Amino acid sequence: MISPTPVTVLRGVGGAVAERLRALGVESIADLLFLLPLRYEDRTRIVPLGVLHPGQRAAVEGEIRLTEIAFRGRRQLLCRIEDGTGFLTLRFFHFSAEQQRSLARGSRLRCFGEVRRGPTGLEIVHPEYRRIDGAAAPVTDHLTPVYPATEGLTQGRLRQLVGAALDRVPALEVEDLLPPALLAAETMPSLAEALRYVHRPPPDAPIDALIARRHPAQRRLAFEELLAHHLSLKRLRRRIQREAGWTLPVRDDLKQRLLASLPFRLTAAQDRALGEIEADLARPVPMLRLVQGDVGCGKTLVAALAACRAIEAGAQIALMAPTELLADQHARNFRRWFEPLGAPVALLAGRPSARARRETLAAVRGGDARIAIGTHALFQEGVEFAALAVAIVDEQHRFGVHQRLSLREKGAAGDRRPHQLIMTATPIPRTLAMTAYADLDVSVIDELPPGRTAVRTVVLADSRRDQVVLRIREACRGGRQAYWVCPLIDESEEMPFQAAEETAAALAAALPEIRVGLIHGRMAGTAKEQTMRRFQHGEIQLLVATTVIEVGVDVPNATLMVIENAERMGLAQLHQLRGRVGRGAHASSCVLLYRGPLAPLARERLAVLRTTNDGFEVARRDLALRGPGELLGTRQTGLAQLRVADLARDADLLPRVQVAAERLLDRWPERIEPLLARWIGGAERYGRVG
Ligand code: ADP
Ligand code: MG
Repeated sequence: MISPTPVTVLRGVGGAVAERLRALGVESIADLLFLLPLRYEDRTRIVPLGVLHPGQRAAVEGEIRLTEIAFRGRRQLLCRIEDGTGFLTLRFFHFSAEQQRSLARGSRLRCFGEVRRGPTGLEIVHPEYRRIDGAAAPVTDHLTPVYPATEGLTQGRLRQLVGAALDRVPALEVEDLLPPALLAAETMPSLAEALRYVHRPPPDAPIDALIARRHPAQRRLAFEELLAHHLSLKRLRRRIQREAGWTLPVRDDLKQRLLASLPFRLTAAQDRALGEIEADLARPVPMLRLVQGDVGCGKTLVAALAACRAIEAGAQIALMAPTELLADQHARNFRRWFEPLGAPVALLAGRPSARARRETLAAVRGGDARIAIGTHALFQEGVEFAALAVAIVDEQHRFGVHQRLSLREKGAAGDRRPHQLIMTATPIPRTLAMTAYADLDVSVIDELPPGRTAVRTVVLADSRRDQVVLRIREACRGGRQAYWVCPLIDESEEMPFQAAEETAAALAAALPEIRVGLIHGRMAGTAKEQTMRRFQHGEIQLLVATTVIEVGVDVPNATLMVIENAERMGLAQLHQLRGRVGRGAHASSCVLLYRGPLAPLARERLAVLRTTNDGFEVARRDLALRGPGELLGTRQTGLAQLRVADLARDADLLPRVQVAAERLLDRWPERIEPLLARWIGGAERYGRVG
């Protein structure tokens, strides 16, 4: 692997500066070059003072007429400049005696800053400035980039460092790895051209396109970055397909017995997904399959049925869930399904006693536990499997690529790797899936079990809580149950569990005849489980919760979901929460409470939920409304750590990225390694684990 040139080769970059650059994710020259400006300032033109207007960010020039210290509330330095067309005040609240001296009457200054209306006309507070005594100093010949800020590094210093890095171009680190033939097909600039353009755009560059990062120069970089990530995943996939897996023979007794014990039949979509999984399991290479299906479509059961193959073959399965609550719920379901069939289930979650933990680990290691269910605790140290044939990850958007691959590693036996099944309710558009999950095959469950009625969603102002309390009373009187979710109100304001505690107390007072329970992330695991079980059994009628119940929780008798401060939450998260109801045959509803007044965008977003129950549609509209969306979570894929590209904004590049990846693999495979080194670098996460 080519090691990238560190920034410390640049003159004047020592330990301290390198440390500060690291805060921006910059360690190599290439990183520095890929640190894109957030915006640009036009300092190529000196604006006459007479035509300035408030709000304008401008470069100006003038002669100092007066410099004085004033006391207007606080001590400040005022400096008045003039250029024959008008005058301007420069105002400094922080200044040194030296600075005061240097701003002597008669000197000429060139300044840059935002013009605003002051008490005596237009002014700039704390302008950047320099004296230009003597001959007319040239103005810059390109737009001035503004980089993401970091403590201890001024914009001036950053500009200078990037400039120094640019001056090394073309150097090895920015060698064009995309063959001209490929670029020509894409009509894209070369890498060096693109980098020069984004750091030093000409005065007439389209600033709006640059700020929106839609300029061809930026798209060139985004394209290359997406290509690198896509190739990394593809390579991982190829590697995995060369590994040995478990060939699980088709003997469907267990599956038939499990199916026979269920009070319902599989939906056609469940059946189809299961068929695809089973075909994978019968092959000698490890499966890597993603099952996508909206909340409530019955993914758990599909996972359980897939597990039958491994259990029948004498091997084990592991099921990893993102929360203790969900792990516990899965354990209860799997025990109900499998223990009558003679397959013991072990639960690894929370903080069990040392003895219980030892026993559980021994059962997993010895192979007695045929099914191991847990949180990320499953791949912690000390957990060893006797014969792990299938690793299942539920709600995978909550895990990183790394974590799901770790579970695979955990199950490595000799050179045999377990099959992996990944489940998610986060629907992502197909092109996105093909890139973000280039290492996976995808099955879609696009059907809900019969008899479900669509959840009716209403959007209400917080001031109408009384009305909501009445709805809760009504639901509980009719034998149903309800959730009341209190998300984080304001990070500085209050801890979410306090908000939940207070809400629970207030609701208990308002609804004395109703059994109110409380659940939040700060409670011990066992307390959480107990509360959840009591809710499951109907002992608790109204469950007040933080977003700990967001994923997976399944209590079909609950028909009312109230979400406070809905305007603060992402659409995907709201859709997940709403998915906690509408799981039984009874009509369900969801009340989205907002603290008014609602901004137009917030109103539009909530309206999306009001008008559709379809997770794919929610995701699509979210993408359109928000631009860079929550869609992929932050850790779901390595793609979430993109530097230049944005999956939403640059989604239209994805099909071309896929084509380019194929061509590169076919014709220029030697370019792949340096491409990955450049964009993914030391953190070549997927490759390393795979
Ligand atoms: P999700 O896909 O959101 O994980 P679950 O697996 O939690 O959904 O299933 C939701 C509910 O639907 C559960 O109560 C489950 O028992 C039930 N269910 C699953 N499959 C079917 C089916 N084919 N017919 C009826 N109910 C089903
Ligand atoms: Mg689920």
